Amino acid sequence: FIEIENLIRNFQNGNDCVQALRGLNLSVSEGTFLGVMGPSGSGKSTFLSILGGLCGPSDGRVVIDGIDIHALGGEKLADFRREYLGFVFQSFNLVPYLSALENVMLPLAIKRMPTPQKRDRAREVLAKVGLEHRATHLPSQLSGGEQERVAIARALVNKPPLILADEPTGSLDSTTSKEIMDLLAHLNQEGQTIVMVTHNQENTEYFQRTISLRDGQVDSDRSVYTATRATAAG
Ligand code: ATP
Ligand code: MG
Repeated sequence: FIEIENLIRNFQNGNDCVQALRGLNLSVSEGTFLGVMGPSGSGKSTFLSILGGLCGPSDGRVVIDGIDIHALGGEKLADFRREYLGFVFQSFNLVPYLSALENVMLPLAIKRMPTPQKRDRAREVLAKVGLEHRATHLPSQLSGGEQERVAIARALVNKPPLILADEPTGSLDSTTSKEIMDLLAHLNQEGQTIVMVTHNQENTEYFQRTISLRDGQVDSDRSVYTATRATAAG
């Protein structure tokens, strides 16, 4: 499903060149809940951005469903992202002056679909994350966990085959984190492939597979039996 070949990413800082990724190879099968761990600065966010087509690699390829995504170029890559990917990044904040429902509807803006239908679809997804009663709230009127769930609903509204999440539980207490992880595990059991970056060791019990990055390469790669995961996910 996902083939990552020899990914290299250099950043130029004045005269310094930082090698954030130094030949990262990975293949991920469809339906996997993959955790990406590793120390700060090991390249996790850079990896996720390139995997999601938000920035390009210096070298190497990302092939998703047979498509070499960085060979697509601007417009087509943007189309691909909208079709295939849902992003739950901490930096992808909710729009403060739009309600929870309107935030969730955003990815549908360019779809040729009647507005009431878009609203219904957004409501359905909000219900899925347990927030139907918060539809008219502004982000500032929601708790951190609720905001994160709105961000997840927004990532899901297009029914993308692949969800990319960067520290979705980073700013949440452990009870709320667990709720978010339960939600992601549930979506995964419904067939969605999820790649999630986290620092939190407690989250690893949810993953089918956990890779650890070090200095921009895969340092370790562990898989867990599905039976164990089902227990962990409740
Ligand atoms: P953290 O756990 O702290 O979020 P990370 O594993 O996500 O870390 P990255 O953000 O991928 O790490 O960064 C990897 C390396 O690349 C770091 O040394 C970082 O300073 C550098 N880097 C990342 N983005 C840029 C950029 N836009 N310009 C210059 N250097 C960058
Ligand atoms: Mg990061």
